[in-house]
Amino acid sequence: MNDNKPEVTPIERPVLTPPGGHKKVLLHSCCAPCSGEVMEAMLASGIDYTIFFYNPNIHPKKEYEIRKNENIAFAKKHNIPFIDADYDVDNWFERAKGMEMDPERGRRCTMCFDMRFERAALYAHEHGFPVLTSSLGISRWKNMNQINDCGHRAAAPYDDVVYWDFNWRKGGGSARMIEISKREHFYQQEYCGCAYSLRDTNHHRKSQGRAPIKIGVKYYGDEEENS
Ligand code: SF4
Repeated sequence: MNDNKPEVTPIERPVLTPPGGHKKVLLHSCCAPCSGEVMEAMLASGIDYTIFFYNPNIHPKKEYEIRKNENIAFAKKHNIPFIDADYDVDNWFERAKGMEMDPERGRRCTMCFDMRFERAALYAHEHGFPVLTSSLGISRWKNMNQINDCGHRAAAPYDDVVYWDFNWRKGGGSARMIEISKREHFYQQEYCGCAYSLRDTNHHRKSQGRAPIKIGVKYYGDEEENS
């Protein structure tokens, strides 16, 4: 590493073609670990993309800032424009009312994806991005069909925006997501993001005799170094 070029995973990748053959994409990103592989895959295909970070679900603010700053740093490394959208957390809690006890992948998550994609699709429409995609679906903890439904629903009102429901997990994408996260020593979040997922994850940990989550302490690759 002496030419200041950011490190990328050294593999041959198939050329990706976004819908309509467009080369300009708005990438809704939830965090650096999930978007790392998506970013590299689009870079390898010469796709001109901008990151849109709108995740008012993430709680508490300390966790939000850590996830966002990690994503900003990785975007800077690759010279990718980064749109830092609102943290309108009050709006998120308002929309989650009545769904506080719902399980993950249920109604509350549909609302959460809808909310984030609605804002991203509006931004895409107002700023000339013909294609919207997201890093959310790369995580194996997520229901991809649920995410894709929300993405298509958000783009539907706009004739000039289409949601790209590419499966970023395939072709080794899931494994590279972990590989890149370790290489970059990304912060490793231990719950999905909202206050309710933090609560439920801690309940689960307690039932297994594990300590509650500590915000800001776990990083990819640390376990291997310490083992
Ligand atoms: S569990 Fe995750 S996707 Fe579901 S509402 Fe909470 S932050 Fe959103």
